Amino acid sequence: MTGWVVIAGLGPGAPDMVTPEITAALRDATDVVGYIPYVRRITPRDGLRLHESDNRVEIDRAQHALQMAAEGKRVVVVSSGDPGVFAMASAVFEALEHGPETWRSLDVRVLPGITAMLAAAAASGAPLGHDFCAINLSDNLKPWNVIEKRLRLSVEADFAMAFYNPRSKSRPDGFGAVLKILRETCEPQRVLIFARAVSTPEQEINVVFLCDAKPEMADMRTVVLVGSSLTRVIDCDAKQIVYTPRSVSQ
Ligand code: SAH
Repeated sequence: MTGWVVIAGLGPGAPDMVTPEITAALRDATDVVGYIPYVRRITPRDGLRLHESDNRVEIDRAQHALQMAAEGKRVVVVSSGDPGVFAMASAVFEALEHGPETWRSLDVRVLPGITAMLAAAAASGAPLGHDFCAINLSDNLKPWNVIEKRLRLSVEADFAMAFYNPRSKSRPDGFGAVLKILRETCEPQRVLIFARAVSTPEQEINVVFLCDAKPEMADMRTVVLVGSSLTRVIDCDAKQIVYTPRSVSQ
């Protein structure tokens, strides 16, 4: 039997945001591997083994997936959102590059998903409608001074920004430091969106100006969008709409 590895993104949470090609891959799979809460999103069925693993063991999980595929299994590696955005796709390719030569003949495919920043942007209007960038605020895999440098240069370039992993129990202070840098470098009326648990029943979208932003507004289920200097808020009857115009004048 020919094995394969599909690295799939399950989207931000809503079942409707899982793409049909990922549903089809899960239907054909023999094994699913991933971080516990993502594997729990898969409906169990006969013939499908679910392998849950803890956070921070991405390389072990990737090696396990490749090993199983080499034995003929059809393996789906699940991430939330998109698997190429701060998720498992890079981990699988790190394992592949440094693993046994035989893994290079395996069928390994990445299937995209809707990443948190795009779901959050859609839920709040079009804040990423002009140039933007995404920064992972976790310093697990890179030093803090790199995060700070990228943040300062992104503000200088006037990108809208999406911050992933803004704040966790093990990193309670980093996001406060990020807000401090934003206050030093941006105007007080800069628009921020705290988008929590987007597309799930717990979704919360909180639009605030930088001068009113507080570290506690973010947690691990929040993606924070920061507008560029041109990002605007329209007060509509039902909600506030945030958008960034398509053009920048000369
Ligand atoms: N691969 C994922 C990102 C994984 S990093 C993706 O493409 O979305 C985990 C971070 O993603 C979280 O800390 C949070 O910042 C963000 N995130 C994931 N799902 C989210 C959701 N439904 N709502 C808001 N933020 C989310």
